[in-house]
Amino acid sequence: MELEAILNKDKLTRDDLIDLMNLEDKEDLQKLYDKAYEVKAEYIGQKVYYRGLIEFSNVCVKNCNYCGIRKDNHKVDRFTMTEEEILDRAKWAYENNYGSIVLQSGERSDKEFIEFVDNIIKKIKELSNDELGITLSLGEQSKETYQRWYDLGAHRYLLRIESSNQELYNSLHPDDHDFKRRLECLAEMKEIGYQVGTGVMIGFPGQTIENLVDDLIFFKENDIDMVGMGPYVLHEDTPTAKDVEDNKVLKTRNLNWGLKMVAILRLLMKDINIAATTALQALNPVGREMALKAGANILMPIITHRKYRTEYQLYENKPCIDEEASDCKNCLAARVGTVGDEIVYGEWGDSPHYFKRINEK
Ligand code: SAH
Ligand code: SF4
Repeated sequence: MELEAILNKDKLTRDDLIDLMNLEDKEDLQKLYDKAYEVKAEYIGQKVYYRGLIEFSNVCVKNCNYCGIRKDNHKVDRFTMTEEEILDRAKWAYENNYGSIVLQSGERSDKEFIEFVDNIIKKIKELSNDELGITLSLGEQSKETYQRWYDLGAHRYLLRIESSNQELYNSLHPDDHDFKRRLECLAEMKEIGYQVGTGVMIGFPGQTIENLVDDLIFFKENDIDMVGMGPYVLHEDTPTAKDVEDNKVLKTRNLNWGLKMVAILRLLMKDINIAATTALQALNPVGREMALKAGANILMPIITHRKYRTEYQLYENKPCIDEEASDCKNCLAARVGTVGDEIVYGEWGDSPHYFKRINEK
């Protein structure tokens, strides 16, 4: 089928999605990105919402094969920011009108950690007059924990499925990581009332274009409100790195696949929030701006203090590790300007899809 015909279809089939993922011609790709941007402009507006990202601890009990801060990587110096330091960053976000923050860390589910997070959520709500939106990205927790953090004021949760294919998921994780539990977590979050975000890594060893298309279909079938997916980027000190044959080839391909995935997802799920993820920037200095042009509408500027950034390296070449949040703020605003989008300050920037979903219940 002609590309224009596919781009203008109401319902895309799996074969259409595969055809789009296989596009390589520069002009064809531009048509795909332009169409995705047009859909974003129509359904979301030419707007970008910020989430100030606070990566507050690299202590992790898990051993995901791809991740630089996995438990068994003993080269990493472990840190956890103090409550005071985290609140200081949240205050910075509030004073700079960021609207929302994301609290992210390695995974822990011990009592001390849960209570630490309880306290932070409560205090961030207090210091911001209930105004700052809070998204959590703290891995798998019990339903009870998800519920208590929701009750304290967190309203969005990000937990990537990493791959919607169980075999591939298993290839990325040691045996004690459970795909079924991951799916249950997403269902529990939805039941509790969170806006649910998930995503996958794009282009890890062994994954095909068909697998990625099935990931897109997974987001649609699960009626996900927000997606943060990004290219897989190698980290030397991890098991997955050993399966990468040529890192240079991988980087070029994964940037390309990452942008196509964003654009195709925008065509498939017109009113959801889609993040232009930091991993895109690790592969190209303007990777995130390219994603905004291809249909993404969320940016997550890292606002963690410089001194901790070098130790929160999930993958190599992570950008902005030697900058302070205020430097980032100015450079980002200038970059978003080049795309033609307006940064919306001081709003939560909730996914329009979420409201549609709960109103249809
Ligand atoms: N511990 C939490 C949050 C931090 S990790 C969790 O796992 O959910 C956040 C995301 O970083 C993961 O979901 C994974 O998709 C991504 N990530 C980790 N290592 C990566 C790599 N090498 N390349 C690209 N993304 C990676
Ligand atoms: Fe820990 Fe998350 Fe990295 Fe897995 S991806 S090792 S849970 S920080």
